[in-house]
Amino acid sequence: MNQSEATQPQPPAIPEALASVRADFPILQRTVHGKPLVYLDNAASTQKPQCVIDAITRYYSAENSNIHRGVHLLSTEATGAYEAARGKIAKFLNAADDSEIVFTRGATEAVNLAAYSFVEPKLQAGDEILISSMEHHANIVPWQLLCERTGAILRVIPVTDDCELDLENIDELLNEKTKFFSIVYVSNAIGTVNDVKPLLAKAKQRGIPTLLDAAQAIQHIPIDVQELGCDFLAFSGHKIYGPTGIGALYGRRELLDTMRPYQGGGDMISHVSFEGTTYKEPPSRFEAGTPHIEGAICLGAAIDYLSSVGLQEIEKYESELIEYAEAKLSEIDGLKIIGSPKHRSGAISFTMGDAHPHDIGTVLDTEGVAIRSGHHCCEPLLKRLGVPATARASFSLYNTPDDVDALVAALKKTALLFM
Ligand code: PLP
Repeated sequence: MNQSEATQPQPPAIPEALASVRADFPILQRTVHGKPLVYLDNAASTQKPQCVIDAITRYYSAENSNIHRGVHLLSTEATGAYEAARGKIAKFLNAADDSEIVFTRGATEAVNLAAYSFVEPKLQAGDEILISSMEHHANIVPWQLLCERTGAILRVIPVTDDCELDLENIDELLNEKTKFFSIVYVSNAIGTVNDVKPLLAKAKQRGIPTLLDAAQAIQHIPIDVQELGCDFLAFSGHKIYGPTGIGALYGRRELLDTMRPYQGGGDMISHVSFEGTTYKEPPSRFEAGTPHIEGAICLGAAIDYLSSVGLQEIEKYESELIEYAEAKLSEIDGLKIIGSPKHRSGAISFTMGDAHPHDIGTVLDTEGVAIRSGHHCCEPLLKRLGVPATARASFSLYNTPDDVDALVAALKKTALLFM
């Protein structure tokens, strides 16, 4: 290596386990405005591997039927595949039992379910719910609605300029009035990985139940709910290479057992009469009506795919890729990376001089580079950091150093237009 090479950021080598993953994602072959697609909007939604696409076709070609109610073979097979998907998620998260996984529409519905069915019945006016300034709106608004309904108070852990949780007053914030603590694992807007385990442990010591918003963590970091010690965990299928409209709430079984139903309808009841209706055990109690059967099955296929590549390999490679991207982006004049957390995963947010992030996104699109611009559903966080909007590049297992180089080249062109 010569001296100038030594000072240049070095692209990470793609490990054996990930060497051929790009070929698994047909959409990555397409062009955008005549340029090869460089997809860096993974925090919004990931692309789908062929095995997930095939699972959708297979379901509708060979298994399609309503579940749980039919005695015929198709219904039995569809029920088996749906419940097997639950089992795959339970194993992936190291839940103690399959029944701890409740299928939802996604992370948003999972948080709303926990708020309505678990937290609300325990709340009195003046009680407190604790979240942080780093939350996605999906982990803010359900708690605000809950506070409106009950007179409870929403308290917020502040964030430092580096976009870390400011834990100076955590002992006061987690106090005897705190009835629930809900916290994001990885920030979708900035990419901060929060050191959640000690925080969850602190809440537990004080008898405060917890929810971990893992929507941006589960695709990047191996998760073990028992080791982390959270009571609930929320995630979305479409962010982990699965379909939209499906996700899950993990909940410790002894807590799920105490919870009221979220919605009423078919499949969640034991008996219905006008004298009184009784409900099924969890998780069925929380899955009213015909669920997103194909979504659940194909989420199972996505989890099989992730497991076959190996999350440990993915975590290591992606963190090297992000480091490379940070170093390359830092070389662009006028580009400012927003927040410099000690541990970053998934996303890098930035501004570039006076160029509006939407304009940056639009110019990058003409170069085939898909990023996101805006407040990323984190308005309070961006307000705290003093920026109304950022441009955000977010990474996944199929991104390469070439993608980073294409992003940087497109940003240099953008700079010529706006700066
Ligand atoms: N939490 C975080 C950290 C997110 O990034 C998102 C989506 O971007 C959500 C929750 C909500 O996910 P969904 O819209 O899939 O329900």
